[in-house]
Amino acid sequence: MLRVPFLDVHAGYAELKDEVDAAVDRVLRSGQYILGPEVENFEQDFAAYCDAKYAVGVGNGLDALVLALRAVDIGAGHEVIVPSNTFIATWLAVSQCGAIPVPVDMDEQTQNIDSTCVKAAITSRTRAIIPVHLFGQPCDLDPIIQIAREHKLNIIEDAAQAHGARYRGRRIGAHSDMVSWSFYPGKNLGAMGDGGAITTDDKCLYDKLKKLRNYGSSVKYQHEYQGRNSRLDAVQAAILGVKLKWLDIWNERRKKIASMYLDALNDTDLILPHVLAQTDPVWHLFVIRHPERDKLQKKLDESGIDTLVHYPLPPGAQAAYASSEHTRADDSSLHMRAAMQNLSLPIGPHLDESQARRVIESIKNALA
Ligand SMILES: *Cc1c(COP(=O)(O)O)cnc(C)c1O
Repeated sequence: MLRVPFLDVHAGYAELKDEVDAAVDRVLRSGQYILGPEVENFEQDFAAYCDAKYAVGVGNGLDALVLALRAVDIGAGHEVIVPSNTFIATWLAVSQCGAIPVPVDMDEQTQNIDSTCVKAAITSRTRAIIPVHLFGQPCDLDPIIQIAREHKLNIIEDAAQAHGARYRGRRIGAHSDMVSWSFYPGKNLGAMGDGGAITTDDKCLYDKLKKLRNYGSSVKYQHEYQGRNSRLDAVQAAILGVKLKWLDIWNERRKKIASMYLDALNDTDLILPHVLAQTDPVWHLFVIRHPERDKLQKKLDESGIDTLVHYPLPPGAQAAYASSEHTRADDSSLHMRAAMQNLSLPIGPHLDESQARRVIESIKNALA
């Protein structure tokens, strides 16, 4: 029997082949390969989609974070508060600016940063907080925005997993100073290569970000900042413009799968994802918890179900951060336990209901 894949990105191309091929063809014929109208059109469409005034297309999600930090002058000697459990890019962006990532443990239910622990992590060197909307579940932003106001800190949301999600009815996109995005192919809005963006409502930050991604320049050979070369590719922008029109439809399909899982697995001893009342998640991942995760994963593998672990080793436990005593986590911390228990089930716009039913059946058999 065919395996149930974790995520089938090729099926996304197959569904939109004619539109995507036409968009790529248009760019190739245009002769405009760097910035220009394709990138500008996508930036406008994406900003509007996110309920934000401005979007700046950049090379990838990591660069989006780095450029956002640099736009508010974060550098050596500064500290930035990050979640303990996130993809390592959130931390690397801080380190690459010369600043120190200061981890705050997760909320047990949502696995997002525990806003009640943020205050205790603030020092005189703290400049910013990066809440991550992990797994496509928006963080409870209001308390974080409140703390940031009191302490005059910037907020940069890492929304690499949350395209289309809503907090208090409004899309993620400009609730705080800046929001960073990744268009890595496996994300909810994925390119066919690398890509990223920053959205904001702040005109000054928008103008600065446009320069920072392009050698610190807006007028050829005049350089205001020591900028990078990190521009959203015109071919990727054209592809993203096609896929943006499908994002809500594709997120609805994810939601359908998620509600099938939530309904069917409710009576098991698994811990299921928790959705806050003030949020509309977009189910980038569907993460369940079980104390014997490895055994469960093996049984599912034997019955043809692909699963993944997000994330087996949090950034603070990685070799990359071994020398930084700031970041050491002990095994009793909530995020270390989640790393041992989390298991991500197949979910995506091209997983059909019969595949989802096979996943459910296999889990019930494995737990029996
Ligand atoms: C994917 C991801 C990134 C990085 O995006 P890239 O485009 O791969 O650089 C950053 N943060 C989170 C939470 C992510 O999931």
